[in-house]
Amino acid sequence: MSRGILFVLSGPSGVGKGTVRAELFSRANHKLVYSVSATTRIARKGEVEGVDYFFKTQEEFEKMIANRALIEYAQFVGNYYGTPLDYVEKMLDEGQDVILEIEVQGATQVKRLLPEAVFIFLAPPSLKELRRRLVGRGTEDTEVISGRINTAIRELFLMSEYDYTVINDTVEQAADKIIAIIKAEHLRTKYIESTIRERIMEELV
Ligand code: 5GP
Repeated sequence: MSRGILFVLSGPSGVGKGTVRAELFSRANHKLVYSVSATTRIARKGEVEGVDYFFKTQEEFEKMIANRALIEYAQFVGNYYGTPLDYVEKMLDEGQDVILEIEVQGATQVKRLLPEAVFIFLAPPSLKELRRRLVGRGTEDTEVISGRINTAIRELFLMSEYDYTVINDTVEQAADKIIAIIKAEHLRTKYIESTIRERIMEELV
């Protein structure tokens, strides 16, 4: 059985990564599993332990860092977020495709550690739209929003480090494009080659 492919969905805060991820998982035409992250932030209403996040204390999280139990981690708005290594490795070994939905600093670390992963940058249609989404979320004040916009501008320059860029015009279209990327990645010669060779060998004997 061949190893699964690791997909990393990243992009600036407010671009809609979570919504696009939810749309992907409402569809049945892929076999992705989602890697649930660990975080020190408090659970929001309706969030479930082990489904949305593994909620940790700062001490527990720092122990995970020290034990090298995370593929990557970052601090975002005063909280830690990180990807547990065990689950991702286990799923990939079982031939499952895995998707991470993480912010940009974390994606840069994954790129260093696991360069064979497929990196997808989710870009806003415009800065105006990004601002509209951040304001619409209603969770941050004006100063924080300006900070996020400035960070987003810096992060947009990192787009060239990614294999694919998907503009989040509509959630449906963005999810369609990500499914297309997953399908195309599975058609890479390196994944198909051994199957073809085996078939040819069988025909020759
Ligand atoms: P939220 O607090 O809104 O759930 O997430 C805040 C940000 O953290 C989002 O941009 C989300 O993509 C990112 N994030 C979630 N999990 C991880 C993770 O495991 N690692 C990193 N680096 N970022 C994460």
